[in-house]
Amino acid sequence: MADVSNMVPLKDISAKCDRVCIFGTGDFGRSLGYRFLQAGYNVVYGSRGQSNYGLLPKGSEVLGHAEAAEKCDIIILAIHREQYGFLSSLSHILERKVLVDVSNNLKMNQYPESNAQYLAQLLPKAIVVKAFNTVSAWALQSGTLDASRQVFVCGDDAESKERVMDIARRLGLTPLDQGYLLAATELENYPLQLFPLWRLPFYIAVGLTAFIFFYSVLTDVIYRYVTEHVDISFRIAVSLANRVFPVVSLILLGSVYLPGVIAAYLQLHRKTKYRRFPSWLDRWMLCRKQLGLVALGFAFLHVFYTLIIPNRYYVQNKRNNFILSKSKLGFVTLMLCTGHVLLYGWNKFLYSSRYNWYLPPAYMLSLVIPCTVLVLKFFLMTPCIDRKLTKIRQGWEGNVKHKPSQRYKDSSLV
Ligand code: NAP
Repeated sequence: MADVSNMVPLKDISAKCDRVCIFGTGDFGRSLGYRFLQAGYNVVYGSRGQSNYGLLPKGSEVLGHAEAAEKCDIIILAIHREQYGFLSSLSHILERKVLVDVSNNLKMNQYPESNAQYLAQLLPKAIVVKAFNTVSAWALQSGTLDASRQVFVCGDDAESKERVMDIARRLGLTPLDQGYLLAATELENYPLQLFPLWRLPFYIAVGLTAFIFFYSVLTDVIYRYVTEHVDISFRIAVSLANRVFPVVSLILLGSVYLPGVIAAYLQLHRKTKYRRFPSWLDRWMLCRKQLGLVALGFAFLHVFYTLIIPNRYYVQNKRNNFILSKSKLGFVTLMLCTGHVLLYGWNKFLYSSRYNWYLPPAYMLSLVIPCTVLVLKFFLMTPCIDRKLTKIRQGWEGNVKHKPSQRYKDSSLV
């Protein structure tokens, strides 16, 4: 992670960034321009002059590339990499200017170097920052940015990167520092990856489902067959599957809250919120929403299966499951679901007959993570710990031993 401590005072940033220049009046340039104007910036377009200016946002100015670049020190390049060639003729004007590369490619690793690195080689005296490439023109213009508010930013100059991150914040987006310009290759591949933030939750859900399913087959179906010669394999398709869904759902729901709780303990231990979390925790926290939605999906499957099983036992239990699927995801849901499972097997753990081959039933496995989260959360809610954590999250630091340059503001993730 690059050093972002060398920050420009906020006043200077807003004074310098009040005017931005956008090269290119295409779809993305126009959408960004709308957003900039809404955020109170003056927008100057640098264009070849062939555009339909009627489409440009009202209040923006259109000039030739050289004139526009002279007016601003931050220039967003809303043009394709293949058209970067003409920029070398402007190299004397672009010296020490911040060039924001927003470009994407049509294929993964299409070129040997990233577009941003190519730009930096083309204009060695300019400062290149990669940003905004994962935000779509349509979402910018329509304002439907809920799922894509994150702006990944990378660059070699900490001050310029911080200025671009401040611009993103002012546009109502969430910048995430991705380090040096070397990271641009990865950022340019993001839009070509299918649902990148869904990948980890998907793998976890598939792995967990497979594990719980085979575990249940072993401890129920195979156990009965081996010990009693009773074949209950017909149960695999519906009733056994329906036992897997709530277990997976509850474990996933617990894992939505576990990273937040771990992060809180980490902050208490470090006595500061200005230190970066380990990358595995960062990744886990970033996909909490997706984990929660997958958990909800499994809960719906459980409700659906419960309704189709013509079995008195399941019909009796369906009300609890409706509570799970209708209430909003939160600790209350986690408590309700955990309570539901505890109620379902409240004294079963006492009987040795329930431990086929000394293995606990699957529903007991589902309680491990949720109960851990609830117990850890309970301690965090005690007044003395809660007071200390609130102070840390408001910026208080105790026994600061690390250098200011190691600081990293990561509280927004918790
Ligand atoms: P676009 O609609 O094709 O616009 C590209 C603009 O580049 C043109 O309008 C033109 O502006 C300028 N241009 C074209 N040929 C040029 C040349 N030979 N020399 C100089 N300028 C030239 O493309 P876009 O969708 O806006 O995308 C622009 C960049 O943003 C691309 O790198 C893309 O990967 C990136 N991006 C797009 C989106 C999106 O949702 N569209 C999202 C993220 C990133 P003038 O006529 O004004 O010169």
